[in-house]
Amino acid sequence: MPAFICSGCGTQYPSSEAPPGACLICTDERQFVPALGQSWTTLKGLRNAHSNKFRRLATGLTTIETTPAFGIGQRAILACTPAGNMLWDCIALIDEATVDLLQGIGGLVAIAISHPHYYTTMVEWSRALGGVPIHLHVADRQWVMRADPSLQFWEGDIKPIGPGLTLVRLGGHFDGGTVLHWADWSEGRGVILSGDILQVVPSGHVSFMWSYPNLIPLSAAKVRRMAEILEPFAFDAVYGAFSGRGQIDANGKQVVAASVARYIARISETSEVSVEQSAERHRAAV
Ligand SMILES: [Zn+2]
Ligand SMILES: [Zn+2]
Repeated sequence: MPAFICSGCGTQYPSSEAPPGACLICTDERQFVPALGQSWTTLKGLRNAHSNKFRRLATGLTTIETTPAFGIGQRAILACTPAGNMLWDCIALIDEATVDLLQGIGGLVAIAISHPHYYTTMVEWSRALGGVPIHLHVADRQWVMRADPSLQFWEGDIKPIGPGLTLVRLGGHFDGGTVLHWADWSEGRGVILSGDILQVVPSGHVSFMWSYPNLIPLSAAKVRRMAEILEPFAFDAVYGAFSGRGQIDANGKQVVAASVARYIARISETSEVSVEQSAERHRAAV
């Protein structure tokens, strides 16, 4: 029996005779069912019509994307760290070439995923690479469509997963929305792999939404809280969920602070205020 994959979002479901009646990720208020209706494919179908391309993003970081694009155009990022290769986020297509290339550089030590729009075929990736653990935040457990022993649910806001490698739960777009902080990246400059929890935007900032396709924003309080959780972490670069929509190669910490300030100013219809000022106001108000 095939394990059907939703063509709209790339989510794989458990093996079944017939495709599921609906995709719970697509019918969630944050997403949408494509205009032509719900349609399904399988890994075999995907492998016949698509392939993966690898592109160097920055030192130690390689993007993996499917061409022609599939699902919501997700990309995964391979982080080659001294503690081993980590797959950040996931894409639906996994094929023999991808597995051969990853095995050729020593395989993976773990998979970690920002939020459910990137769960896709994570179970297939883990199984193809020796059953490596997949780290997911427990707050998004209800969005796991295919259970597997490789899934490791973590709690709280911070989880170290290797030397200098920390998963940081910021919430926002999803309750379990997570970014990966690699402290030692590029001789200690530090990087955040942000998914669309901090959405890198073309102006060279980041921004925030509860639903990106349906344009439902997050409150000022939520975004302020996200900034507070991220505050202890130092980083110079921020790389997001999509290629071709901007990237932050330097001054990431300042850029994120400025982005938070401009978002809060706009959503609150206040004048431009600094993060410190807005945080102060928040403290005074509660
Ligand atoms: Zn879907
Ligand atoms: Zn998303």
